[in-house]
Amino acid sequence: MFWQKDIELMDKEQLRNTQLDCINKEIKIAKRSEFYKKKLSNIDKISSLDDVKNLPFTTKEDLRNSFPYGFLATDLQNVIRLHSSSGTTGNPTVVFHTAFDISNWANLSARCMYTAGARNNDIFQNTMGYGLFTGGIGFHYGAERLGMLTIPVGPGNSKRQIWFMQNFKTSVIHILPSYALRLFQTVEEMHVDVKRDLNLRIAFIGAEPHSEEMRKKIEELYNIKAFNSYGLSEISGPGVAFECECQSGLHIWEDYVYPEIIDKDTLEVLPDGCEGELVLTTLQREAMPLIRYRTRDLTKIISEPCACGRTHRRIARITARTDDMMIINGVNIFPIQIEKTIMSIPEAGRNYIIEIFENNFMDKLCIKLEIDNENFGGTLRDLEKLQNRLECELKQEIGVTPVIKFVDAGSLPVSDGKAKRVFDLRNKNK
Ligand code: AMP
Ligand code: ZN
Repeated sequence: MFWQKDIELMDKEQLRNTQLDCINKEIKIAKRSEFYKKKLSNIDKISSLDDVKNLPFTTKEDLRNSFPYGFLATDLQNVIRLHSSSGTTGNPTVVFHTAFDISNWANLSARCMYTAGARNNDIFQNTMGYGLFTGGIGFHYGAERLGMLTIPVGPGNSKRQIWFMQNFKTSVIHILPSYALRLFQTVEEMHVDVKRDLNLRIAFIGAEPHSEEMRKKIEELYNIKAFNSYGLSEISGPGVAFECECQSGLHIWEDYVYPEIIDKDTLEVLPDGCEGELVLTTLQREAMPLIRYRTRDLTKIISEPCACGRTHRRIARITARTDDMMIINGVNIFPIQIEKTIMSIPEAGRNYIIEIFENNFMDKLCIKLEIDNENFGGTLRDLEKLQNRLECELKQEIGVTPVIKFVDAGSLPVSDGKAKRVFDLRNKNK
């Protein structure tokens, strides 16, 4: 019912021509904003996609510095919605939408869900936060556009989530990966058998970094297929890139954004297949076009054809953000490397945090990990063995031996929103 065949299978040449037209339209609209009027003062149009690399970048700082209306490219009377980032310092980044933008985004998220196999006879439970955060409301509109019965439960209240799933036979769920693991604790406490008592078949997981191992764990626990969903509020929200049924990379919708990968240090554009920072130019936005927006997310473009037949290229799972990297005694480590190792050991629990502190002028990495009671038989000796195994495997993965501390299931801090995993306590001790 929501198969946008003409767009999704568009011939590559036609897609590139469309992109060029759209970029030139976006430049024209963007120049109505205070920010781009200055930034693009000597550019009116480009003559080929090769010229995109000569356009200036836009950064998160630019958005912050232009708070509140510096990026608005239309009259206020045309704007119907504002979203804002969850940033904790400085001005938030604000994004505006016209009715066309909202409708377009709904089509895009409906397309994503259809791509992953959702249909209008599905029951869709949305556990993402509603409000300024785009996760909840973005897919809500898409799910309705697709025609699913949509249950806007929002985040938290795990017992109620399961109650809805049981009573309304929820078949598709939209959920943060960290919350999916946590919610399973309640599934166990309520003695719910996922095969017998639930009707779940698909989960859309995203909004925060997660490893392939975490996806597998979620799929196994709930007996479902979980699809990676990528987006960011600056570009609209969820729906920017999404996995199809092949689950091998996320189709980045090239009619909606023009993607580039750059070297984050030299800022040079990298060829497909090389990992770097994802840069996006909006192609259809009215209220607030963005030209070459630096997402800070690290990935690569996969240009080989996908078995599903869609022509839009894919991006690899986001491995990290450029600002996620931890430097421990000079060694560069990304949190996802730690998660990957933890999730591949079945006895290790489902929730963890990483603490960095200083001892005798040396950085120390401590991983606090909940124990999975179900998989862990539990003598003290077994615990020691598990600790040694984790230390060894982590040392191999990250080159640093961490301190492992086991804690009771359910005792680590949790939030209704994206999981906060890393706590850097180094400066506090100085
Ligand atoms: P927000 O604008 O607050 O929704 O945050 C967007 C950011 O969340 C992105 O720039 C990514 O860093 C992160 N993010 C969103 N989706 C994913 C995903 N599927 N995998 C990894 N990180 C993600
Ligand atoms: Zn595909």
